[in-house]
Amino acid sequence: MHPEYSVSSSLTVSGIVCVGLMGIGFLVWKYINIPPAFLPILFVGAVLFSFALITVVVYQSLRMYASAHSIARDITSEILTYSRELFSELYRNSPVPYILIDKTGIIESVNFSAARLFSIEIQKFEGVDVFTLIEGEDEQKIALIPEYFKQGRFVNDVEAIVHEMDGKVHWVMLSLFSFRDTNNDLKGLMTLVDITKQKQIDKAKTEFVSLASHQLRTPVSAMRWNLELLATATGTQLSELQQSYVQKISRGLERMQTLVDDFLNVSKLELGTLSIQRSTFDLTQFFGLVVEEYRAYAATRGVEVETNWNEPFGTFSSDSHLLNMAVSNILGNAIKYTPVGGKVRAYAFLDEKTLTIAIADNGIGIPEEDQEMIFSKLFRASNAHSHESDGTGLGLYIVKEAIRILGGTITFESKQGVGTTFTVILPT
Ligand code: ADP
Repeated sequence: MHPEYSVSSSLTVSGIVCVGLMGIGFLVWKYINIPPAFLPILFVGAVLFSFALITVVVYQSLRMYASAHSIARDITSEILTYSRELFSELYRNSPVPYILIDKTGIIESVNFSAARLFSIEIQKFEGVDVFTLIEGEDEQKIALIPEYFKQGRFVNDVEAIVHEMDGKVHWVMLSLFSFRDTNNDLKGLMTLVDITKQKQIDKAKTEFVSLASHQLRTPVSAMRWNLELLATATGTQLSELQQSYVQKISRGLERMQTLVDDFLNVSKLELGTLSIQRSTFDLTQFFGLVVEEYRAYAATRGVEVETNWNEPFGTFSSDSHLLNMAVSNILGNAIKYTPVGGKVRAYAFLDEKTLTIAIADNGIGIPEEDQEMIFSKLFRASNAHSHESDGTGLGLYIVKEAIRILGGTITFESKQGVGTTFTVILPT
């Protein structure tokens, strides 16, 4: 209770007691015959008594207030100390590695888990720039972390690599958030969750897919050759029904080959075994071949393909196999996701610095809510299946990775029901 309230309530109580006493005094004076000489003495006595009573009550209430206040202060400080201790125990002993840094990235403290992750003693971290300890496969992404931190932005779940003293590698999921301490200084708390085991399991799975795809390639190719021989064998005339069976098997085998190739490409990209083989090649010929390959496919689907390039391009230095894989995938998709009567436009432009390739269609488009996921492995947009049941959702993932390996960028613009444009920009 506030002291003003305790004083006023005690004054009220004392006031009531005084009024009571005056009442009793009045009754005594009225009904008991007191000699008049005693009256002033009695009055002074009553006033003094009231005064003493008020003083005692006010003093007692103030003492009670002071002791209640001190108990409350003790309890608050105990709770504070307890939560501070609890917090620092959690920080120190948490199984998640924590690193506390200042605004420039210099380490101020680490917990036991972080020290174990790097197998370095806790004291040796002090004064080290945390960003010198972090590496990653995607160097551009890793280089952005200090920038994000300085801008006060959160970094969430970025895959990174850290090394132990003896060179042993750990894969970690890195998050970093910034906050202001009591002096309003910028600080950062970095968490590094060890995902080495998951990475090893993922790698084993990818290796299995790679091995299986390799093993499947040979029999699939053999079956296609034999089927072609059967269809064209002289001396044997296949009936119409038999020819239709051969065509169905042939289409099935083609699909199987595409699938196996996609799996193989994905596993190569993930294992990092897809090395770049640069060569200088003629761009006019390159685009001519890519488009020619898809003309028959476009015709069967009733889609027109229009090209628009400033021929002749001259030569270009890149990995023609990877570039072909990317452009063919985008062009194939544009034809596949455009209804009969639609149009696909392929555009390319080369200047001193960049090669720009854009492929636009007036097809089904990609729903806005699916656009964020479109380059993810195995993802197909919600409107894709009803238009074309055939698809793995691996193509655009392969395209994105291939363009990244070639040092370029890929972007797209799309509106459902209106069309889609994919744009690839490569450095010369
Ligand atoms: P898929 O084998 O399904 O074609 P991709 O990885 O090549 O897989 O493409 C992923 C998804 O992106 C497709 O399933 C489709 O939903 C969407 N998509 C790709 N290109 C286009 C396009 N030109 N128009 C509309 N949707 C597209």
